[in-house]
Amino acid sequence: MTKRAVVALGGNALIKPSQKGTIYEQFANTREVSKILTRIIKEGWEIVLTHGNGPQVGSILIQNEMAKDITPPMPLGICVAESQGLIGYMIQQCLYNALRKEGIDKPVVTIITQVYVNKDDPAFKNPTKPIGPHYSEKRALELLRQGYPLIKEKEGWRILVPSPDPLRIVEADIIKRMIEDGIVVIAAGGGGLPVIEKENWGLDGLEAVVDKDLSAERLAEAINADLLFILTDVEKVYLNYGTEKQKPLDKVRLDEIKKYYAQGHFPPGSMGPKVLAAIRFLESGGKKVIISHIEKAWEALKEKTGTHIVP
Ligand code: ADP
Ligand code: MG
Repeated sequence: MTKRAVVALGGNALIKPSQKGTIYEQFANTREVSKILTRIIKEGWEIVLTHGNGPQVGSILIQNEMAKDITPPMPLGICVAESQGLIGYMIQQCLYNALRKEGIDKPVVTIITQVYVNKDDPAFKNPTKPIGPHYSEKRALELLRQGYPLIKEKEGWRILVPSPDPLRIVEADIIKRMIEDGIVVIAAGGGGLPVIEKENWGLDGLEAVVDKDLSAERLAEAINADLLFILTDVEKVYLNYGTEKQKPLDKVRLDEIKKYYAQGHFPPGSMGPKVLAAIRFLESGGKKVIISHIEKAWEALKEKTGTHIVP
């Protein structure tokens, strides 16, 4: 029996914290990830892959900023689309090679993916996601005058953009048909491109970003996945994380994790959306969510480690 999973790769899968993010480093990391994915596919799993894009879209935005007097800067949505393309290309090639080495002849295809959001989402009134370069005080003042909300971080000022809730994947049907055809699909990279449906117009993009774990969950619903597999840089989810009382969660039920979520154990912007994605997936009929470290993916799939969340 085939089993179906959405695998969500965190930021550390393609660029490690100690690395600069050169293309050689990113390809080397992608080859490592591809070996793990190949093992999972070899086991009979049909997978749709998704991934973060923070550092990659960050450098595209820096390139835009530095070159703005030479070539027209591109809006955020275009930069996210570029990052889906560049990361998709790396995974497409590395995973295809890794599969063929194991004698598995499966196409790997990246889909530039849009996600519907609600134009009245409260996030639009309260931008929370820092993106792109760190600016000097002088440039920050210019940007403030142009109406950009900014936040001061250690290294300088950054632009904040809204992070609306993803409602549905625009390309859901074709992704489902592709997975049914035995294609490994890479979709909703960086959370996908947020769009709204405009009257007398059609789809239109927005200056916003979507959380990749919440989009991964929408993907998982759309393809009727059995498993939502979230791979990040911690081996388990913890209660009281970062305190002396921290306690790892091994196997936890939906009603328990909902209680912990409400108690505030999982902060927004990191573990919060992963756990919210888990809750949504199980409430929509999903069978299992695993959250673990990318390097422990195999052991986690075999229930030897990771946090396993079940209905
Ligand atoms: P990704 O790129 O994989 O989405 P994030 O940084 O967004 O990674 O989320 C993973 C991070 O969440 C971990 O590195 C950890 O520091 C943080 N985190 C916050 N709360 C918790 C918790 N309760 N349990 C485990 N990790 C947590
Ligand atoms: Mg994250």
